[in-house]
This record gives sequence, structure tokens and C-alpha cells, in this order.
Amino acid sequence: MLPISPTHIASFAQCPTKVFLMLKSVESSKLTEYDKLLLKFQNQTFENYCTKLEDIQDFKDGFLKKGFEIIKNCSINLTEFDFQSKLILKNEGKSSLGKFFYEPVIFLGSNQIAKENRLELAYLGYLLEKIQNEFPDKGLIIDKNGGKHRVELAKLKKSIKSIISEIQNFDQSPPKLILNRHCSQCSFENICKIQAQREDNLSLLDRITQKQINKLEKKGIFTIKQLSFIYKPRRRNKKVKNPPILYKPELQALAIRTAKTFIQRLPELCRKPNEIFLDIEGVPDDGFFYLFGILIFDNNILMFRT
Ligand code: SF4
Repeated sequence: MLPISPTHIASFAQCPTKVFLMLKSVESSKLTEYDKLLLKFQNQTFENYCTKLEDIQDFKDGFLKKGFEIIKNCSINLTEFDFQSKLILKNEGKSSLGKFFYEPVIFLGSNQIAKENRLELAYLGYLLEKIQNEFPDKGLIIDKNGGKHRVELAKLKKSIKSIISEIQNFDQSPPKLILNRHCSQCSFENICKIQAQREDNLSLLDRITQKQINKLEKKGIFTIKQLSFIYKPRRRNKKVKNPPILYKPELQALAIRTAKTFIQRLPELCRKPNEIFLDIEGVPDDGFFYLFGILIFDNNILMFRT
């Protein structure tokens, strides 16, 4: 198995199957257009940050013991683990290196800090502990706008250990295929969709959650076809006015098996003499909105503004 890298840990937070495929089939692990864009912005964030720093050293073997303040492009092979860090910062304290230790820094290609970013940072902290015998309690995330975010790493250490043990156990217990929100940005999308269709995998159902899948599997239901047979229409309780329309995966499965459309309740369209419709376009990662469209319907007169 390839050594576990920070990218593997970040990818695990998106989908364990992704890491399994990355470690098993290196050829298919190509970057998507989205990945390339993110990487480009990430490199820009790093370059911009470095231009503001003085006394920054390029990593070389034995540099850590010399106690330089800032070291960039660190790469250390730890057999089972791969320590790749764009930047580490010196802090006062005690470690096997001397009266100081290093903290990890990561750079983002967006302005949103996701769970995978925190885990990647904590993993770098975990590997630094192996190198310097001291776990850095904090790390730094630099976002696309150059904003600095201090992150507590201690509370993430347990998660990191459990992720590492799951990855190391992939040969005995490979992850279960569950299609998810990340699939549309993943380089393995085609491989996984084909496998899911072959298995008639429950995660092909739109909106079904992992919790619902686990619950169904405990009842012995593993495919959409099996699920489609358990749908039972319920009698409407006349005492309850406007009962909520709940998502029923078994009804969706039935619709797929019978190739029919089922409507739980006909929607009532309520029109008013004055109506306003808004359309907003933006970049959610940056919290930036660049186009607002407004459609005004005023007593049969239609107006559109941007
Ligand atoms: S396509 Fe989806 S299920 Fe497959 S590895 Fe990627 S994220 Fe996971």
C-alpha cells in the first residue's frame, strides 16, 4: 500500500471509497477540472503568503534541528506515512529538536474551511509529533483571501487515529460504496456509478441518507429492487390537516421499478396579484454574489431587472 498522505486524509472526510480507489488504482486518480482550479488558487494563496514573509527557508534534510523560523516545501518519508507540508512555523516549547517545535500550516483555494481541511491540518500535526516528539496543539489555515485561522488540533487527534486505522485495514474491510454529494467533483465518478448500477445500490436513490441505508441493511434490504417491494400506502388521518409530505425512499424505489410517477399530494399553486421572484448567482466558496435578477409581476405587468 502507498504511504498515507495528507491528501488521503482530506479525501477520507469526503468519501472513504475515494481513498480506497486512490490507494489501489493510481492511474485513475486524475485531477478533475474542479481539483485543478482549487489547486491553482491554493498555490496562489501560498505564493502570496510567502511574499510577505522574511527569513523563509526551503526544506533540506537536517533543517528542522537547526531551528529556522519558517520552512517551506517540507517532504519527509515516514515509511507508512508521507509528510508533505507547504509550510511549517517554529513555536517556543520543548521537543526532541530543541527548545522549540513546529506547527503545520495549510493553504486553501477557497474561503470556506471544510472538515477535510481541519483533518488534513491535524494529520500534519500528528506526523510532526512523530518527527519532533511533540504534538502541536494548534495549526494555521490560510484562506484564499489571506485570512488566518488558528485551529485547535488536540480534539481532532482521535479522529485522525481512527481514520488511519480504517485506511490501514482496507485490505480486510474495504469501505462500502455509497454515492454522495462529493461524487460530481470526484475523478472516480464513472467507475462508482457503473458499480452502483451493477449492484442496484441503494445510494443511487436521490436524497437517501447513509443512516437510512444502514437501517435498511439491518432489515436485510440491500438493493433498490428489494426496497421497492416494501412500500405500503398509508391511510390518511382525517383529523390532521395538511400532513407533512415525507421523503419515502421505498416509494422512489417503486417508481423506478414500475417506471411510473407517483404524486403523494397534488401541489396547490397559490398566486397573488403582486409577486417577486429572485435569482442570485455567485461563488458559494467565496461567499461572493455577482448577479442578482429580479422578476416583478405587478397586476399583470411584468418587469425584469438585474
Ligand atoms: S465517485 Fe463518489 S462514491 Fe466514488 S469515490 Fe468518488 S465520492 Fe466516493
